[in-house]
Amino acid sequence: MGAPEAFIATAEIGHFIAGRTVPGTSGRSQPVFNPATGKVARTVALASADEVKAAVAAAHAAFPAWADTPPLRRARVLNKFLQLLVEQRDTLAAMLTAEHGKVFSDAQGEVTRGIEIVEFACGAPHLLKTGFTDQVSTGIDNWVLRQPLGVVAGITPFNFPVMVPMWMFPVALACGNTFILKPSERDPSASLFMAELLARAGLPAGVFNVVQGDKLAVDALLEHPDVKAISFVGSTPVAQHIYETGARHGKRVQALGGAKNHMVVMPDADLEQSVDALIGAAYGSAGERCMAISVAVLVGDVADRIMPALAARTKALAVGNGMEPHIEMGPVITREAKQRIEGCIAQGVAEGATLVVDGRGLAVAGHTEGFFTGGTLFDHVTPAMTVYREEIFGPVLCCVRVPDLAAAVALVNANEFGNGVACFTRDGHVAREFARRIEVGMVGINVPIPVPMAWHGFGGWKKSLFGDTHAYGEEGVRFYTRQKSVMQRWPQSTPKGAEFAMPTAK
Ligand code: NAD
Repeated sequence: MGAPEAFIATAEIGHFIAGRTVPGTSGRSQPVFNPATGKVARTVALASADEVKAAVAAAHAAFPAWADTPPLRRARVLNKFLQLLVEQRDTLAAMLTAEHGKVFSDAQGEVTRGIEIVEFACGAPHLLKTGFTDQVSTGIDNWVLRQPLGVVAGITPFNFPVMVPMWMFPVALACGNTFILKPSERDPSASLFMAELLARAGLPAGVFNVVQGDKLAVDALLEHPDVKAISFVGSTPVAQHIYETGARHGKRVQALGGAKNHMVVMPDADLEQSVDALIGAAYGSAGERCMAISVAVLVGDVADRIMPALAARTKALAVGNGMEPHIEMGPVITREAKQRIEGCIAQGVAEGATLVVDGRGLAVAGHTEGFFTGGTLFDHVTPAMTVYREEIFGPVLCCVRVPDLAAAVALVNANEFGNGVACFTRDGHVAREFARRIEVGMVGINVPIPVPMAWHGFGGWKKSLFGDTHAYGEEGVRFYTRQKSVMQRWPQSTPKGAEFAMPTAK
């Protein structure tokens, strides 16, 4: 196994087009911060429409040969990529901590969850196997092919700079598409390193490309006629824009949006387990996970019993630079995010929620310029309050008290988001009913963050996903391929002449 490489920061993060790293030529760029220090670490180029066109042209040129490459040979390239990823897991994780701020062990976990999708995609020959019916009519067989779409693009958020792109490109490449990644401009370094590892694994030039950028690059991808499909993950308003604009331009789109994930704690739940789950799921990655728990739904008398432990654990969170080993929670992504989150907390207070632990104004020794905000706990939150309705995407846990399971289910089902949900209970019947009745795409029973495994697929309901298919798993294979049905007959004898009636089984 090779040693992890040092994270060598280049002054400006450029693009990766046609098999090599290229500097930006648009004259536009923006700073990339280390959120723990609050300092600018490097800059990232922001692509022009012409740079996007160059990437699409490279991907378009590479498509015919890659699509014709046998799936087994495509899988071998992914297998080599997998080996390199395993060797470089800590290099990638260090990049994540340096630009996103999440603690190093969490960053290692993110890379591992990405690696699992590559492991899944290495099964390309099996994934692309299809159905065949012998003798649909006398002497006629019918089967289906799943063929790649062409150039496909992925537009990804800041909170999982490795895992979320890997929800997309390993499956897209395994299916024979060529790919353009437009990563988040907040933490772009990992995207270029992944491109470099794919090239080292033997991926032909042009099959995987990266364009750095903002709305301008995204809109250029949305409008380009040679981009056949768009996978998006990010906030709900942008997801909706991508879905509508992409569809208008005739593209296949899957657009995963924001979330407000609830964890229901039943009176019979194991309290210690529930507290551990809530603290980890609410404050892990500073609450900047699309599957973070941001609402605790406390049923019956559980609220009075659980609140003292929740408050004590929230106050005791070790907040600091994610590269230090004992740290549990790092900074949030930007100074603006910190201000926005602290503004939401003020609004919660103004609207009458009980502020049990206030994370505003947290000073971390040695990192006074870092973008830190402490764990915040609200009690007596109601569905009418802004802190309940809006996605805060920070370390803020809102507790809502309800009388019974029916009220808990009604609350969750009335919420406009439907990404993840959890129920903590010891009662199997309650668990089963909850899983069946809840209108949310991913459900955890005594599991706070139920991110599905690589072969099951990831996706929410309602305003958490626009489109028909979930990310990765078999849904991903379906998204990145189109079905072709072939009906075949080899006539043996003399022709019978043209048939004008609708063909039926003979
Ligand atoms: P974001 O929507 O601001 O950005 C996502 C991507 O869209 C980025 O690449 C960005 O450059 C681009 N973008 C931003 N504004 C745009 C615009 N107006 N037009 C076109 N493109 C635009 O999201 P973010 O802040 O990077 O990420 C956090 C959000 O992502 C949260 O809402 C979170 O819930 C969501 N998220 C959802 C999932 C999921 O699986 N449902 C997973 C991760 C993150």
